[in-house]
Amino acid sequence: MSIMSDKPFSFIPRLFKSPRTYHAQWMITRRCNYRCRGCRVWQEQDARELSTEDVKRGLDILKDIGVIEIVFSGGNPLIRDDIGEILDYASRNFITTVYDNGSMAAEKIDALRNVDFVAISLDTLDEKKNDYLKGVRGAWRKAMEAIRILKEEEIRVGVSPTISQFNVHEIVDFTKYFISQSIPVWYCYYCYDYPFKDGMFNIGRKNDEFIIRDKQALLDALDSIMRLREESDYVFITEKTLKALREYVSSGNRTWKCRALDSFLIIDHLGRVAGCHSREPVASIFDLPRVWRSRKFDELRMKYSQCTKCAYLCYIFYSVHTGLSGILEILRDQWRNTKILLREEKQKRLQRRICPPMAE
Ligand code: SF4
Ligand code: SF4
Repeated sequence: MSIMSDKPFSFIPRLFKSPRTYHAQWMITRRCNYRCRGCRVWQEQDARELSTEDVKRGLDILKDIGVIEIVFSGGNPLIRDDIGEILDYASRNFITTVYDNGSMAAEKIDALRNVDFVAISLDTLDEKKNDYLKGVRGAWRKAMEAIRILKEEEIRVGVSPTISQFNVHEIVDFTKYFISQSIPVWYCYYCYDYPFKDGMFNIGRKNDEFIIRDKQALLDALDSIMRLREESDYVFITEKTLKALREYVSSGNRTWKCRALDSFLIIDHLGRVAGCHSREPVASIFDLPRVWRSRKFDELRMKYSQCTKCAYLCYIFYSVHTGLSGILEILRDQWRNTKILLREEKQKRLQRRICPPMAE
């Protein structure tokens, strides 16, 4: 089942739940096969994980509290042997995205057939630079090959670059290249974890190599992305998010209030829940039915709404699109993204009818 089925109708009752929690990110494993610079996961791996059945039980709970979209990340989520079963289960009830560093998607095609989006993290078109960033020789070639194979297999694949000093001067050309290949691009923005005491899931360490020194280049890139967004449906970032990031970069002014544990929540590989990955875990996913609408959680929401300790782009995105109108804005945007994919599928079906495959 996919976003193109009647799944969107099942979202309607969830739109009226309170709080209106659109998004959950589940860092479903803390194992990874890459060695990316600026990431702590591979240095602090943990083989413990929830069982398949527990993950499914957690997904049912997320549906009940009103979550509509789920993103599986890690570590590398595709490293789990049961990832196909998990993705199939999640895709029945959520808009489902799974991340891969480009190393495993091609060999796990069957696990990916039902997801709505596969995001391949890739930062640059420069092979050497990419392999340096990923800490693995051959990473760039593998990622490009995975994108080609997924596209050929009609799996909805996109690239997800992290904008940093490494690629700020080429991010526009990078975007143009993938647009020209009809591959969607959605962005992360380099940020590092504020060292809260007992933070749940350490990911980004401060790294001078990544911090953007050329502010004007970043502002110019954001302006170009804004224009590309108007011209192409393959640029997957909302105008509101881009404007919020631009304002933050140019003046340091945060035009949003953080909506951690409200519009979004994070779950780790052990099923612990936090407002964001840098904050301390505040419950187990299995306790959510009991605590989600509690006074304690309302107080945490209030506390996080005053927090200004990070500018991770995904958290900005889910903080600028809030409430019923915010969710409808996201769904409208995702529908715009989905339309192009529908168009592609229609064209392929037509092509197959005109040129049926040759008999062997
Ligand atoms: S950034 Fe992702 S792919 Fe790279 S080491 Fe960290 S978890 Fe693994
Ligand atoms: S601003 Fe929000 S997402 Fe960022 S560290 Fe604070 S609570 Fe977490």
